[in-house]
Amino acid sequence: MDKQKFRPSVLLVDDEPINIKVMRNALKDDYTTLVATDGERALSIVRSNNPPDLILLDIMMPGVDGYEVCERIKQDKQYANIPVIFVTAKSAEEEEIKGLELGAVDYLAKPICFPILKAKVKTHIELKRHRDFVELLLDKQYQEMESRNSLHEQDRMEQQASIQRYIEEIQENQQRLKLSLWGSGDEFWNWNLESGEFSRENPLPLQMPISAIRHDIEDVKSYVHPEDFAEIKQRFNDHLANKTDHFEASYRVKDSNDQWHWLLERGKVVEHDPAGKPRRLSGTLKNISHLKHTEQELLLAAKSFENISDAVWVCDENLIVVKINDAFTDITGYSAPEVVGRPLERPVSKSNDIALSPYVLEKAAIDSSWQGEVWGIRKNGSHFPQELQVSVLKDHQGSVTHYIGAFSDITYRKNSEEKLRYMANYDSLTGLPNRTLFMDRIKHGLEVARRNGHLMAILFLDLDKFKVVNDSLGHASGDILLKEVSSRLSDCIRDCDTAARLGGDEFTLLLEKINNADEISQVTNRILEALAEPINLVGHSFRVSASIGVAIYPDHGNDFKDLLRFADIAMYQAKSNGRNNAQIYTAEMNKNTLFRTELERGLRDMVENDELLLHYQPKVCLSSGVIQGMEVLVRWQHPKHGLISPDIFIPLAEESGHIVRIGEAIIRKACIEAKPWWSRGLVCGRLAINLSAIQFIDENLPERIDAIIEESGFPIDSLEFEITESTVMGDHVQAIEHMKKLQDRGIHLSIDDFGTGYSSLSYLKGFPVNTLKIDRSFVKDIQASHRDKGIVASIISLAHHLNLKVIAEVVENIEQQQLLTDLNCQEMQGFLFSKPLPGRELEALLLTHARKRA
Ligand code: C2E
Ligand code: CA
Ligand code: CA
Repeated sequence: MDKQKFRPSVLLVDDEPINIKVMRNALKDDYTTLVATDGERALSIVRSNNPPDLILLDIMMPGVDGYEVCERIKQDKQYANIPVIFVTAKSAEEEEIKGLELGAVDYLAKPICFPILKAKVKTHIELKRHRDFVELLLDKQYQEMESRNSLHEQDRMEQQASIQRYIEEIQENQQRLKLSLWGSGDEFWNWNLESGEFSRENPLPLQMPISAIRHDIEDVKSYVHPEDFAEIKQRFNDHLANKTDHFEASYRVKDSNDQWHWLLERGKVVEHDPAGKPRRLSGTLKNISHLKHTEQELLLAAKSFENISDAVWVCDENLIVVKINDAFTDITGYSAPEVVGRPLERPVSKSNDIALSPYVLEKAAIDSSWQGEVWGIRKNGSHFPQELQVSVLKDHQGSVTHYIGAFSDITYRKNSEEKLRYMANYDSLTGLPNRTLFMDRIKHGLEVARRNGHLMAILFLDLDKFKVVNDSLGHASGDILLKEVSSRLSDCIRDCDTAARLGGDEFTLLLEKINNADEISQVTNRILEALAEPINLVGHSFRVSASIGVAIYPDHGNDFKDLLRFADIAMYQAKSNGRNNAQIYTAEMNKNTLFRTELERGLRDMVENDELLLHYQPKVCLSSGVIQGMEVLVRWQHPKHGLISPDIFIPLAEESGHIVRIGEAIIRKACIEAKPWWSRGLVCGRLAINLSAIQFIDENLPERIDAIIEESGFPIDSLEFEITESTVMGDHVQAIEHMKKLQDRGIHLSIDDFGTGYSSLSYLKGFPVNTLKIDRSFVKDIQASHRDKGIVASIISLAHHLNLKVIAEVVENIEQQQLLTDLNCQEMQGFLFSKPLPGRELEALLLTHARKRA
């Protein structure tokens, strides 16, 4: 006998020869395999003389696809009972469901698993055989009934035996069916509507209160989501009413842990009672939570793709753009038609090489993503910083199929970071490095100097009398001055050096790669010279000077804090040395700092402790030799340090805010002490008191003076104030108002140190000034320097021209006196005539002077 003839046949339908080959290999030992590589061919094999016993049907095929093949087979009564198993791509659950709806008995997932393929094919072929057999049997029984008497006993026996065999096989097959169900993970249920008996096979592993008796669909209500129940009920009733072929619903159920799960339920009436009323329902239950979850995620992803503010591009493995979102267009200016289908405009990195280099892409492929800051380019050609995240999609073989880039424009963030970095490290007024950055530079500089064996110098620079300028000319002028100073400092140093502003009028400089101390003094000289050039402030040219302290690594220390402190100390030494000079630190200076701090502390109660001591220096008329008043010069009678010069403590009092109070005390004391000399007629002329600028612009000055005059009884019209040029500069309304008020009271004003501050003298016209006091520097060199003599001559002629009195100070010898007399100077003051004297000595001098004159 031909053995092949009794082997069941299986039709393999697939457009991929490789899939056919795989299935054929699995089945060829037990079945005859027929092959079709398209739908039409499959149909013609089915309709041939030898239809297959089972069909393995691929869904996705060109032309007539699997669904249609299945549908057409099921429409033809003759072939409708051939079991069809769909072969579907993995995880395409939707496909499975559709296939089952079309009448397929089962499905197989690709890639195909041999044991499952074999088990399913075997189960379904056998089921078919049994069905065919039962049909045959029924046919026979029918025929038997027709010819009741013709039945032979032997035939009956044979029939019984085959029925017995059939029952056994059915039992065996039920086992297989169970296995198959188990493999699919689905639950199979059976509901007897008459008895209410509800049985479950392969129940889903969910803890739900499903009872073994179900009378009504309402019984499930307790664990089904309220929003879903109405729909289930509707579909169920529709099916019972025979409105639908089967009943299907997806809905949510709550397990005993209060967790929700999505289920897909499909059922069908499988038995009716003789009256045609549904008697039994069967169906399956499937957990589709993961499907629903993916569906929601996909929805969300699609939504986010369009709605996120990050730009997104998707490229294929060759970096050809496949898709972009709206934000991409917003940020770059490129619309989808302009970029899709073209190579991705690759962002560059800061170093200007392509950021998405093959190397980076390779790395992204290995790590699944890459992240970095890069420079993107807009349609208008401009560059912008972007934070880019590249993710990689791979197929199941692990090869990259797509790159996905998401980026945001971080221009704003970059700018603010840059701004913050700048603010943290630079002085906003002058643009010089600030304290923080300077400290960094010193630390770094020290390391370099240590390594290379160089010297390094730290310079501490403080502008002389800056507070006075700032307070009298106003802060705007102070700012201009500081900016100008900064730019000059920067011009005095090399590229490897640093100039920084620590705050106020304090500057520091770091000189690196120094070979010897000479190089340092060259720089400090350059700075002092550069600062000596006039600066234009509020329309007038103005001169500043600075005191500079220097500390050197490694001569003075290794630690940056020590070096800074030493430079600061040296700077104070420069100040004490008369300002406008530079000093290199010596151990000796350390003592001075202590001294300075001690003085600052002592200033607080020097008035209360009556430590103010006044000296008086007479002024004389050059032509007559008569004493024309005197200047009050203050000293501090310090309990520990003896007499302290005003050059030392007045600036301290100005800086520490004590000057107004101390100045007032000086005026009061002078008026009280000098009053008897005037009332006794020992002296004519005026009592001249020096006023600090801060004192002068104090709003209560006129009232304070009134009070002192009231208290002391000194004749107010014999009073004179000496103020410096900078005090009356600028548009200080207060200053002019005060000058007028003082003049109204009969007080004279004298411009002290005249000629040093401003090169322009035009401002003098507007001011109610009485006297010009020629600065000592011109007097000092009047004999030797033609230039200074010329200056003195012009000041004198200017004074005459403006109808002002003129006086020369610090006249120390006869030659100076002679020259000044020749130049028509009216008065003089200086050691030549008298040193500043304590009150009692001055009184004695006045008495002898008066006696001589008499
Ligand atoms: P100044 O107003 O220019 O005073 C003149 C300075 O020259 C005084 O120094 C005086 O002692 C000194 N002097 C006078 N004649 C000669 C001379 O022939 N040769 C030399 N080498 N020096 C001479 P002093 O007393 O040390 O005062 C220094 C500065 O302190 C003053 O300069 C003034 O700016 C300030 N000062 C003094 N007393 C007061 C005061 O009561 N209030 C304020 N705000 N400042 C004061
Ligand atoms: Ca003076
Ligand atoms: Ca002076």
